[in-house]
Amino acid sequence: MAVIVDKKPTAPRPPRLVRGSLVTLRRKCGKAACRCAEGEALHENPALSFSEGGRTRIVALRPADVPAVQAALARYTAAREQLEADASAGVEMLRAWVAARREAERSR
Ligand SMILES: [Zn+2]
Repeated sequence: MAVIVDKKPTAPRPPRLVRGSLVTLRRKCGKAACRCAEGEALHENPALSFSEGGRTRIVALRPADVPAVQAALARYTAAREQLEADASAGVEMLRAWVAARREAERSR
């Protein structure tokens, strides 16, 4: 099965599936005169947090990106649940297949 990944930085649309979770980054911007300089009223921005090779990674987002990322996360969850259900059904079918074969061999 081919997996097509669009690596262009100006991809016209967000990905259909993503894994991880939405988080809020709170940070100082570094400008001495900014409201954030005192350590209060930090800048908040959404981000996707995900695990890669055992490490937590972050993709910084814009607020307008959140709905599309939420939808992609939900699609991933649904697809993963469907895959789990299909595989569980496969285990039941395997059990029945093995039992039927045993029965057929016994009655020979
Ligand atoms: Zn600031």
